This record gives sequence, structure tokens and C-alpha cells, in this order.
Amino acid sequence: MTTHGITIVGAGPVGLTAALAFARAGIPVTVLEREDSLNDSPRAAIHHWCVLPFFESLGILDDAMAAGFRGIGLTFRRLSTGESISLSVDPLVGHVPNPYSLHLGQGDLGRIILDHLRRQPHARVLWKTEFLGLDQDETGVTVRIGTPTVSRTCAPAGSSAPTEPAAPYGTPSTWTSKA
Ligand SMILES: Cc1cc2nc3c(=O)[nH]c(=O)nc-3n(C[C@H](O)[C@H](O)[C@H](O)COP(=O)(O)OP(=O)(O)OC[C@H]3O[C@@H](n4cnc5c(N)ncnc54)[C@H](O)[C@@H]3O)c2cc1C
Repeated sequence: MTTHGITIVGAGPVGLTAALAFARAGIPVTVLEREDSLNDSPRAAIHHWCVLPFFESLGILDDAMAAGFRGIGLTFRRLSTGESISLSVDPLVGHVPNPYSLHLGQGDLGRIILDHLRRQPHARVLWKTEFLGLDQDETGVTVRIGTPTVSRTCAPAGSSAPTEPAAPYGTPSTWTSKA
């Protein structure tokens, strides 16, 4: 595989945000993802106030806030004893630009980042492309890739096999099973 610029392995939230940051800085970037679509199984869903300025710098904050909802506190509850610990963002008001958290499933956030990445002229995501390794010599770095024979089979409840990027973001997730 011949490419110039940055190669990132994995279209998870880390790979996509890094890719968007490079692309916005004018640096060509290629993301290699072995699956055929984003993994939107229910996982991370709360993005705390301290990362929101980073989302703003990537230009995704408005879309993310529109797709998710704003949280002004968190309560951890231990069902067996009834104990709970509540955290409020009130002390942050007036001190940080975004004194709230964003509640949005990481699959939905991934789709937003991907939308923005697609608008970048020097960014591309290669699906069904598995990173196998790399070789380096004095002429450069060669990335070895392949097409995986085993693909992820897990899909969110109620969805058909995803064909990236068909699913709109902001759709209900399956968090009820974690409540
Ligand atoms: C069941 C579950 C529940 C979770 N719940 C929460 C939660 O409630 N709150 C929270 O904060 N976090 C949660 N997490 C953790 C969170 O999902 C991860 O921290 C986050 O996904 C990590 O992002 P990432 O981009 O580093 O990796 P990933 O999201 O794992 O993305 C890595 C990507 O790289 C691809 N890849 C891997 N190897 C290769 C290769 N060789 N070639 C090409 N592509 C490759 C994979 O297919 C994948 O798409 C949960 C995780 C799981 C599994």
C-alpha cells in the first residue's frame, strides 16, 4: 500500500478523532478499518465537560450536542444498599466554556466524526482493510494490509446488518439493558 501522510489503524473514536484533527490541519490521513462499518454497539455514552472544548476545536461540538443531550450531573447508585453519590457541574459554571456533559452513544458520535471527515479533501477511510504489519527501510515505510475473512457479527438490537454509513445518528441506542 502506497500512501503519504498519516496512516491510522482503526475507525474507533480514537482513530476517527485523530484522523479529523490531522485532516483539519491539512495533513493527508488514511484510516484502515477491518470491519465494513462503524461499530455502534452500546458502549461509552457520556463525554465530560473537559473534552468538549476539544470537540469544539474539531468542529463537531454543535452536531454532537444536537444529536445528544446535555447532562448537568451524574448519580452513581448502588442498588443493593441504596447508597448513592451525586456529582453536580454547578461549581464549573463561570469557570469553563462548557459546564455540562454530552450524553451521546459512541457509535452516534463516530458517525458525526465520520461525516466531518468525509468533507476533508485529504482524508479517507478504507473499510474491510486490516492492518497486518509494517516494514521500514531507508526508502520509507510499507504497510501490509489484507481483507479480513471474519467480520463482526454483533449489531444493535433492532438494526439490520449495517451498511456504512446508512444509519442516521441520534437514533435510540440499547442502553436500557445497562440502566
Ligand atoms: C462492552 C463495552 C462497554 C463499554 N462501555 C463503556 C462505557 O460505558 N463508558 C466508557 O467510557 N467506555 C466504555 N467502553 C470502552 C470504550 O468503548 C472504548 O474505550 C473505546 O471504544 C476505545 O476507542 P478506540 O478507538 O481506542 O478503540 P475501538 O473503539 O475498539 O476501535 C478500534 C477499531 O480498530 C479496528 N481494528 C482493530 N485492529 C485492527 C487492524 N489490525 N486493522 C484494521 N482495523 C483494526 C477495530 O475493528 C475497531 O473498529 C466499553 C467497551 C466495551 C467493549
